[in-house]
Formats: sequence, C-alpha cells, structure tokens
Amino acid sequence: MLNSFIADNEFKNLLLMGSRLPKIDAIRDTLKVIDISKLRMILMDTVRKARENKVFTNGTIDGFVVVAIDGTQTFNSDNKSCKKCLKASKKRKKKVRNFHSSVVLSTISDRARLVLDFEPYRTGINEANKDEGELTTAKRLLKRTTTDHKDLIDVVVYDVLECNSEWQNACDKATVDAIVRVKGNNINSLKEIKKQVNKSEPVVEWTNDASYEWVKVYEGFFRMQNVEKELRFVKFHMKDHEKIFAVNDCNNLHGHGTRYNL
Ligand SMILES: [Zn+2]
Repeated sequence: MLNSFIADNEFKNLLLMGSRLPKIDAIRDTLKVIDISKLRMILMDTVRKARENKVFTNGTIDGFVVVAIDGTQTFNSDNKSCKKCLKASKKRKKKVRNFHSSVVLSTISDRARLVLDFEPYRTGINEANKDEGELTTAKRLLKRTTTDHKDLIDVVVYDVLECNSEWQNACDKATVDAIVRVKGNNINSLKEIKKQVNKSEPVVEWTNDASYEWVKVYEGFFRMQNVEKELRFVKFHMKDHEKIFAVNDCNNLHGHGTRYNL
C-alpha cells in the first residue's frame, strides 16, 4: 500500500520542492532497525507526565481510568521478511504471508485517547515453532503497563477475547477490573447465567436518548471454573429508532459491584 502511495505522489505536500521520497525498500530497511524500546520509553514518559499534570485525577469515564486493548497489524508482505516476522499460510497459492502484529493499550474517554503501551507478538516461541497468540501477548502487555504505572488503570476492556478464566485471572492479579464481551462462548457457567438472566426482569431502563428509544439492562452473578472471584454478567437490550439488538457483557465484579451505574 505504501508503495502505491509513493507511486501516486501522495506525500508530495510533505516534501520540499525538488526532493524525492526514498524507494519503498529504503523505507522498509529504516523501519526494520528502529528501536521500539525507545518508542516505549517516550510513551512511558508521556504517561508519567500526564499523571503529574493530574490528567487522570477524575478518571476517563465516570471517575474511573478505563483502558482498552486492541490488536493491530503493522507490516505485511508476501515476499519480504525478517527474523521476527509472524507467518500465515495463504491457502490458495500455497504462499506464506509475513507480518508483524502488536496489541496496543490506550485510554478510552470522550477526550483524546492516550496510548499507554504496546507489545509485539513474539514469533516461534514454543517447540512446535508456533507464533504467540493474542492472549499471551495481551497478558504480558497488561502486566508491564500495570507495573510501570502503578494504581493507574481501574478497568480494562478487551473486546476480542472470549470470556475466559486465564484473562480474568491475569486482570485480577494486576488488580484491574476486566470487561469482555461474551460471544460464541461454550463455557457451561456462562450458558447457565445467560438462561437465568433471560428470564429475569431488567434492573435498569434508560429511555428517550437521541441514539436509542430504550435500553433495558439485565444482570446476574455467577462463578466460573478456575476463577476465584464472582463475576457479573450484564445484558443490554436496546431498541434504537429502527431495530432491536442485544449485546452481552461479562465483567469482573472485583470490589466494584455497581460502579458502572447499571
Ligand atoms: Zn519481520
């Protein structure tokens, strides 16, 4: 993609008259040797400065510092690769795609988002030479961010993950509340609580907002195997001005039973 941007002269306004942009290979070679640990130090200093300046004193949402983790692919190529490339086989052409991926942790609020830290996936980490999965990378990221910035994060939202004990426990250890979406989940305790909540009355109802006609909120509490703490299951049933859909959430109860004003 970058190559076609260069060919189409997309960057011309950034350059001095008469100067030319380096070829894609030169750019790639430069990016390959950029030291990401320096980038991480810049982020760390930025967050420390923001804390000193009391940016997070009132939290980011309802008094709590809420962050989200998201995965992102940074480079990919069918023919260029380096030692740290992750590999994916392309079914049709029997080719291998080389790429780099990271998980990024940033604050969420209605103000500007601040990236707190990021973590690249590691490649070929076990005997089977398998690349690292997103959960392992995210756990390492959360552990480091909560160590580097003690008592900063209250809640972490991770949309991609299934609701599982490994992530709940990692969040518990970092003393951060976890919110994950419950989707396509086969865990028995979740199936049970879903059934139970479906039969219950809403605990809260919001009506007449610009973006919806009504939202009904249901909740239930349950225990999951291998998780010490009780978890809260929340179901939002929303009717917007056209259609109805349902979203299920599962969040860690740890110490803050009703903090989301549900
Ligand atoms: Zn690479």
